[in-house]
Amino acid sequence: MKIIKMLCTQSDCYKVGRKISPKGLMLHSVGCSQPNPYVFQRIWNKARVNACVHAVLGPDGTVLQCLEWNRRGWHAGGAANNTHIGIEMTEPATIKYIGGSNWKDLDPVKTKAHVLATYKTAVELFAKLCKDYKLDPLKDGVILSHSEGHKRGVASNHGDVEHIWSRFGLTMNGFRNDVKKAIYTVVVKSVASVSKPVQPTVKPLGYLVKVTAWFLNYRTGPGVNYKKRGSIRKNQVYTIVDEKYGWGKLKSGAGWINLKYVNRV
Ligand SMILES: [Zn+2]
Repeated sequence: MKIIKMLCTQSDCYKVGRKISPKGLMLHSVGCSQPNPYVFQRIWNKARVNACVHAVLGPDGTVLQCLEWNRRGWHAGGAANNTHIGIEMTEPATIKYIGGSNWKDLDPVKTKAHVLATYKTAVELFAKLCKDYKLDPLKDGVILSHSEGHKRGVASNHGDVEHIWSRFGLTMNGFRNDVKKAIYTVVVKSVASVSKPVQPTVKPLGYLVKVTAWFLNYRTGPGVNYKKRGSIRKNQVYTIVDEKYGWGKLKSGAGWINLKYVNRV
């Protein structure tokens, strides 16, 4: 686990500046196939956005902290915002939502690897926070998923995190037990404070790629949360002139594509 502090100081949630004394921790899953925690930080870090969580977890152990732990977050859509720290896990690029919280697995091996890796990061972070705030992970109501929060009347009606976990045999009870065990062993490897996202490895720009997906959407920016502008087809070749968060900018200026679905030529 690597905690990287990149507070959403531009968000209304941050600016309101209410404080909480954390009584528990709520676990979320982002609900879209976007594995990069920085994308969410950027979405929330602006005015007139009605959500902001305390941290987003990546599969590589990244804990991207968006709010101080004792600042009141906007994550639960209910009273849990007053008592619980909210943590989002990212979801793999290899799933596709097909309505509500139903999804199709496009690559079971990669999907499972992502889910298990973010689970591990979540266990470590929850153990650290339980230790810091003297919370008992097994005590009723301390650690909740968003959907458990809804059943208790303290959160909005969402299916996370179980809608992802259930396919891999993961449960909230198992999670609480794993957190309990990890409290005595958790180690924070590094805590860094950054103001800009860490750029992925720099590749020379202006290179050719061939599309490997049947259809590949291009969007107004580097991420699935940007508006779709159109799509390109399999085996067509394009020039990429910029890269961000695993997305490439088309030379034509038409938009950005996910580089997972192309090969360099
Ligand atoms: Zn949620």
